[in-house]
Amino acid sequence: MTMEVGAMFRHELTGSFSEGSDANPTVAMVEASYRASGLHFRYVNCEVRPDQLGDAVAGARAMNWKGFNCSIPHKVEVIKHLDGLGESAAVIGAVNCAVNRDGKFIGENTDGKGFLMSFMEVADPKGKAVVLLGAGGAARAIAVELALAGASKFYVVNRGTSRGEELTKLLNDKTNAKAEFVEWSNTYAIPTDAEVLINATSMGMAGASELQDIDFTSIRKGMLVADVIVNPPHTPFLQKAEEQGAVTLQGLGMVVNQAVISIKYWTGKDVDPSALRDELIRVL
Ligand code: NDP
Repeated sequence: MTMEVGAMFRHELTGSFSEGSDANPTVAMVEASYRASGLHFRYVNCEVRPDQLGDAVAGARAMNWKGFNCSIPHKVEVIKHLDGLGESAAVIGAVNCAVNRDGKFIGENTDGKGFLMSFMEVADPKGKAVVLLGAGGAARAIAVELALAGASKFYVVNRGTSRGEELTKLLNDKTNAKAEFVEWSNTYAIPTDAEVLINATSMGMAGASELQDIDFTSIRKGMLVADVIVNPPHTPFLQKAEEQGAVTLQGLGMVVNQAVISIKYWTGKDVDPSALRDELIRVL
């Protein structure tokens, strides 16, 4: 009798490299999904310092890992250790998911793709004018993905000018969208042509009482308002937007979809997002 020894006694390996990995719940979601889908894979959450990143990638290569996520602070630095980049990762200039394709590690960015997947469930980005609060890593990934999917205009509203101007230039130079930078120094009113408002700042995380300095009465009924914050799922920002009649999108969907997309890259399988969502809610 022949037996597929690999399938019995060896799991395919995936995981995550970051600093501060103790607080990262992705492992719980992904492993729950592997179990629910009968995938013979494991996901290992690894603490990796910046000076260890090259060795960590070399180790994953030597052990034929199917891929790995990269989180803070490795999303940009990891690029020099990879063999190539997907389209949006190249434009964004950051990678959060490396995929083993025929022995080569290719960097993808699923932050923005996860957001886009949530967005597409309620609206089509084509031709939309978007107000984006923030210009950090999450904002950059979301803006590039929305622009590549056809969003036509961006108001990049950020406190610091250098990151805000940099993202505005990136959108104008590398995508077909038109972008305008707004320095966020006082209460911001949503322009009348904007159909989408996104909080991509870190404001509103659990325990943070601060609220975005915007004129919430300028949010119109039916406007699509999204938040990147995962915990709490329904942020004060989304609650205020809902009071104005907005349609809201939680950051929880984005993080679940990112994992769904990563699993598809690594295993080739479409998994049910609900197994990931339920586990994430359970562990949070
Ligand atoms: P960064 O540090 O790269 O960017 C933070 C952004 O928030 C900057 O634009 C910063 O402005 C702005 N900001 C922070 N505090 C304030 C404040 N008090 N007032 C105004 N602006 C402020 O972080 P990331 O982009 O990586 O992450 C942002 C958030 O997105 C985090 O909470 C993270 O957890 C979440 N996230 C969620 C994901 C999901 O799947 N749902 C995926 C990735 C991230 P400035 O430039 O002026 O400092």
